[in-house]
Amino acid sequence: MVDLNGLMDRIRPELDAAIKRVLDSGRFIGGEEVDAFSKELTSALCLHEGKTIGGLSDDVFIVPCANGTDALQIALMALGVGPGDEVITPAFTFISTVEVIALLGAKAVLVDVQSDTFNIDCHAVEKAITEKTKAIIPVPLFGQCADMGALMEISKKTGVPIIEDTAQSLLSTYCDDQGKSGRAGLFGAFGTTSFFPSKNLGCFGDGGALFTHDKKLAQTAKSITNHGGSKRYQHDMVGLNSRLDALQAAVLRVKLPHLNTYISHRQTAADIYDDLLKNVEGIVIPVRDEKSSHVFHQYTLKIEEKDRDELARGLAEDGVPTGVYYPKGIHEQKAFEELGYKTGEFPITEKLSKTVLSLPMHTELSSAQQKYIVARLVSRLSEIKGEV
Ligand SMILES: *Cc1c(COP(=O)(O)O)cnc(C)c1O
Repeated sequence: MVDLNGLMDRIRPELDAAIKRVLDSGRFIGGEEVDAFSKELTSALCLHEGKTIGGLSDDVFIVPCANGTDALQIALMALGVGPGDEVITPAFTFISTVEVIALLGAKAVLVDVQSDTFNIDCHAVEKAITEKTKAIIPVPLFGQCADMGALMEISKKTGVPIIEDTAQSLLSTYCDDQGKSGRAGLFGAFGTTSFFPSKNLGCFGDGGALFTHDKKLAQTAKSITNHGGSKRYQHDMVGLNSRLDALQAAVLRVKLPHLNTYISHRQTAADIYDDLLKNVEGIVIPVRDEKSSHVFHQYTLKIEEKDRDELARGLAEDGVPTGVYYPKGIHEQKAFEELGYKTGEFPITEKLSKTVLSLPMHTELSSAQQKYIVARLVSRLSEIKGEV
C-alpha cells in the first residue's frame, strides 16, 4: 500500500545528516528543531502558489504534539469540552475523533457522510446540533476537504467551533462558490494533523500538530501539551505529556520541502488510475469534489458489495495489496456500543464500509506497477462476474 523505504532511500543523506545534528545537539524533546519545524510548517500551510491564503486571518499558530489523536484531544480540552457536552463527528472515519470525545467524558454524536465524497453530511450536522453541542469535528477523508463553506456557515450561525482533523488532508485546499479559498485545517477554531509514518507527511515514529488562528487558544493548547504548565513546575490546568521530539521534527524538516512534490506524485498516480479504470464496469472511481483539491492520501474505489471481499482476496493472491478504510461504521464498533446507535441508522456509512476498496497509493508508484495492478483487478473482477 505504501513504499516508505523507497521514499527514504531518495533522501537518505539528508536524513542521516538531520539525525546526526540532533544526536550532536543532545536536545531530544522540544528545542530548536521543533521550533524550526513549526515555523516551516506555518509557511507551507500559508503559502499557496506564492499567495497567502487562509481562513479568518493570515496569522497561524502551530502547536506540535505527540500524535494526531492527542492533537484532537488537546483541541477539545483547549475548548473546554467535558462531561455532559456533545461533539458531532462522522460515523465513517478512523476511530480517533470518537475516542478522544469519550475519553473526555463527552458524548459523540455521530452523523452520516456523503456517498460521493465520503465526507461529513452538512445537513445532518445542522440537524444534530443541540444546546449541548460544544464542537463539530469534520474529517476531510482520503485527502479532500469537507464542505467547509457550509460548515463555517453552521458554525457562525450557532457559535459551535469546528476542529478539522486533517490527518489525511494536509495541504489540501478548499474553494467555495464565491471563489473564497482556504487551507484544510485553517478554517475553524483548530485544525489537527498526524505525522504517523504512512501519512502524506510522515516521520519515523509518532507525531502530530494543531493549527489555530487564535493566539490564546494556541497558548492554552501548548500548555496542555506540557502538563498544563506555562513555566516549569507551575501547573495552571490539567494537561498531558504530548510533545513532538527533536528527532521526529528533524526528519519532518527534511521531508517538508518535498511535500508538494510528494503530493503531485500522488495526484499523477491518481490520474493514471482514473484513466485506466474509468470505463471498467462494476467500479466507481473516486469523485473529485470541485470545491476541493485532492491530496490522495488514499485512492478509494467503490466495488459492488457482493464482489468486494472476493476481489480483495484475489488481488492479494496476485501480490496486489488493497485496504478497506473502514470496514465498520463507528456505531458498529463494540467500544462505542454505549452510544446506543443501531445498525441501519447510518445507511451510507454502512454501505460504504461494505463497498470501499483502496488501491496502493504512494510517492514511489510507477505507471508499470499501476498497469499491473489494474490488469489484475480487471481480470479478477471479470472472473468473479463469471465472464471468463
Ligand atoms: C491517522 C489518523 C488519525 C490519528 O493519528 P495518530 O497520529 O495515529 O494518532 C486521526 N484521524 C485520522 C482521520 C487519521 O487518518
